[in-house]
Amino acid sequence: MAYDYDLFVIGAGSGGVRAARLTALSGKKVAIAEEYRVGGTCVVRGCVPKKFMVYASEFSSAFKVAEGYGWSFPEKPSFDWKTFITAKDVEIARLSGIYAANLGKAGVDLIHGRAVLKDAHTVEIAEKGLTLTAETILIATGGRPFKPALPGIEHAITSEEAFHLDDLPRRVLVAGGGYIAVEFAGIFAGMGSEVTLLYRGPNILRGFDDDVRAHLAGELEKKGVRVILAAQHDRIEKRESGLLNVLDNGIECETDVVMFATGRKPYVADLGLEAAGVELNEAGAIRVNEFSKTSADNIWAVGDVTDRINLTPVAIREAVAFHETVYRDNPSSFDHDMVPSAVFSQPPVGVVGLSEAEARKTVGKVDIYLTRFRPMKYAFMGSDERMLMKLVVEAATDRLLGVHIVGPDAPEMIQLAAIAVKAGITKKQWDSTCALHPTAAEELVTLRDKYIEPELQAAE
Ligand code: NDP
Repeated sequence: MAYDYDLFVIGAGSGGVRAARLTALSGKKVAIAEEYRVGGTCVVRGCVPKKFMVYASEFSSAFKVAEGYGWSFPEKPSFDWKTFITAKDVEIARLSGIYAANLGKAGVDLIHGRAVLKDAHTVEIAEKGLTLTAETILIATGGRPFKPALPGIEHAITSEEAFHLDDLPRRVLVAGGGYIAVEFAGIFAGMGSEVTLLYRGPNILRGFDDDVRAHLAGELEKKGVRVILAAQHDRIEKRESGLLNVLDNGIECETDVVMFATGRKPYVADLGLEAAGVELNEAGAIRVNEFSKTSADNIWAVGDVTDRINLTPVAIREAVAFHETVYRDNPSSFDHDMVPSAVFSQPPVGVVGLSEAEARKTVGKVDIYLTRFRPMKYAFMGSDERMLMKLVVEAATDRLLGVHIVGPDAPEMIQLAAIAVKAGITKKQWDSTCALHPTAAEELVTLRDKYIEPELQAAE
């Protein structure tokens, strides 16, 4: 049977765009449908605008550092939210335009509209009056923020609206303790808002190494963020003077904005998955095998909609593997092991590999190397900000299992550390690398003494 397209991609985010371009460039007839803006979460309402916000907000502490070095500002530096938002929007529009242009250059048909599956080979884009068929379909619709149901939740925003607020809020409460919550707590605090971070568990960033979690929570508080743990909303009440957050531990606090960063869910609603024979897993994500193939033989899915590791570079690698498998006769799967990640909190976190707790569970005995120190840059300002570096090593084999960094430039450092961890090197090999002085990163290769918890030391 002749189809309209060899490949139809639903969703023009990082994964969808990469798969569409590669496949069109290999000579296939490809279309991609996008209901919003080309670029997806990362470019339009995620990583990229978020990073601009982090850059904007970091200046407030940079000015303080500068004063320590002798700079003075005759007038107190001030921040204009609208100027920033306008500049950010111009850049995001430019980047989205580049993505769209690159699709065009590769020969991909870009259809602006919502695509719904009618059966395993047919998609309908109702607002364009189009019904199209394709031999292969790739679903790359990403995720959407999730807000729990509670009284007054309609007054709360998510990260999506946080990128477009009319004004910088004077008081913000951010609910959640994951990536987005801690990143936005830092952004708003750096820009000058009074910030409360509310998390239901015992400490933020569940799943990260416990030393990282404790260190970051402490650093956030040093930056003036009020961190409330082990509590959640009972309700939100709209008052004339603001939004009253009523918590289940009896605390009440009024803010101008309440932002929920309580996770993201795969965006599968009304996509026609059932009609196409595409199954979901228990978490509501599209179930795929290691090659990203769904339960329907000709339908594949990559990126956040499959809820494996929800990071842009992972979606891109999954898309490349899909292309290799389907169009290059080279069955490929992306190895989801040892993927580095960063939290662009202030200070930021960079992590690759296993936390101490995960490593103990997986391999048993581990050696820990840990240091905390004041970054040299802050020497003149009496700052009590500390950097944390931690290595997790398998005791039996000396293999480096995890690197954890909290502090300035941690994300930049971890990208390189990840090469070594992914390559499976030993601590001895890691240590044979000469330090580069004076840097903070040199501390990583000069950690010689095994770390023993102070309580255990006292007991010895
Ligand atoms: P996360 O899953 O990281 O965090 C969600 C947070 O919300 C957790 O602290 C969770 O608590 C809490 N939570 C969930 N449900 C409720 C509820 N009903 N009431 C109160 N709290 C709740 O999600 P994010 O939204 O922060 O980010 C989504 C994903 O996007 C991330 O997992 C990551 O993959 C990606 N991302 C990556 C970034 C990066 O690379 N820098 C930046 C931003 C996002 P608990 O821990 O108790 O479950």
